[in-house]
Amino acid sequence: MNIHEYQGKSILSSYGVAIQRGYVAETPEEATEVAKKLQEETKTGWFVVKAQIHAGGRGKGTVTETGSRGVVLAKGLDEVADKAKGILGGHLVTLQTKAEGKKVNKVFIAEDVYAPGASEPKEFYMSILLDRGQSRNVIVYSPDGGMNIEDVAHNTPERIFKEVIDPLTGVNDFQCRKIAFNLGLEGNAFKEMGKFVKNLYKAYMGCDASMFEINPVLKTSDDRIIAVDAKVTLDGNSLSRHSDYAAMRDVTEEDPLEVEATAAGLNYVKLDGNVGCMVNGAGLAMATMDIIKLSGGDPANFLDVGGTADAKRVETAFRMILRDPNVKAILVNIFGGIVRCDRVAQGIVDAYKNIENISVPIIVRLQGTNAEEAKALIDSSGLAVHSAITLQEAADKVKEVLA
Ligand code: GDP
Ligand code: MN
Repeated sequence: MNIHEYQGKSILSSYGVAIQRGYVAETPEEATEVAKKLQEETKTGWFVVKAQIHAGGRGKGTVTETGSRGVVLAKGLDEVADKAKGILGGHLVTLQTKAEGKKVNKVFIAEDVYAPGASEPKEFYMSILLDRGQSRNVIVYSPDGGMNIEDVAHNTPERIFKEVIDPLTGVNDFQCRKIAFNLGLEGNAFKEMGKFVKNLYKAYMGCDASMFEINPVLKTSDDRIIAVDAKVTLDGNSLSRHSDYAAMRDVTEEDPLEVEATAAGLNYVKLDGNVGCMVNGAGLAMATMDIIKLSGGDPANFLDVGGTADAKRVETAFRMILRDPNVKAILVNIFGGIVRCDRVAQGIVDAYKNIENISVPIIVRLQGTNAEEAKALIDSSGLAVHSAITLQEAADKVKEVLA
């Protein structure tokens, strides 16, 4: 699950990671209010107004309606309201959004942390994620922060470093020193980076994250190390033990079809192909997508209806698949292990009758407990549903209806 920058920062802060401080606001008036509060706390006169959307590249992105950038500086309280007005309610288009952009409902009003001082502020890149190949978490970092990390990886790959973390020891002191050294730090900033990395890793483990991307990590002119940006992805499967994080979900940022699917207990991912599919079990769903490919089609979706494919769920699933105008055929592939095939078949027949004008052919492959009874049920239903028992039969029928 993705969360907003301001939410990610609140999690980081709760683990002792130093952050660029700020408050979230939903109106220009509220923006001024929180800026005032921030001013009292930090004595800052400069603020930065940051659009809160689930996409990066905001600094270089443009709000369609006003031409404002997604991250802008503001001097004094009056400018804060003005700049917030230019962002709130608009659509922010960045390299990571679709062409129509994302609607901005909230802005984060933060202290300006780039003030000049004893030394130059410096931006770094740091992320933590799971390296599946090594079965270890890895800290990826670079002295070239603030910019597009894909460009750094492409043009100067030698400037991206990795530190693999042993799950038993966590981040070791020598690793902190190596990171601070590679980032070119010295003196107090060198020590501060060590603390930053340790707390960041503690936060990553503690909140069950699947990814942290902090770009930039800033060395301030007074040698503090702070997170200026925070892209935090939490493991959706861990939310049952973090009710406070589960509440951070912002469904307005998610694909409406996928939100609806989750609510119905379905695991649905929309794809671009022409053959819809409905399957019980994620592994079988992957195999089914392969079958569709082999039969000359392209999967229009991934859809796992789960172990208990009852009539209600089957109907909801059909309706979701049918809303996609690209769908030319639907392949249902159910393995009856716990669930009985004849019950699923009855569910399909009932759903078919409930949904008016299904105009695409449906191929149903049922295998396992009571598969023969299920096939008989479908064949005698009088509906335009093709039944199959083996995968090969199912693939052949898909090919036939696409031809
Ligand atoms: P992103 O563009 O979505 O990745 O958003 P960021 O939070 O990374 O902000 C974009 C850029 O704005 C950063 O790389 C910084 O250069 C700049 N920025 C962020 N906070 C401040 C600030 O407090 N002061 C100044 N001067 N620049 C800032
Ligand atoms: Mn950033």
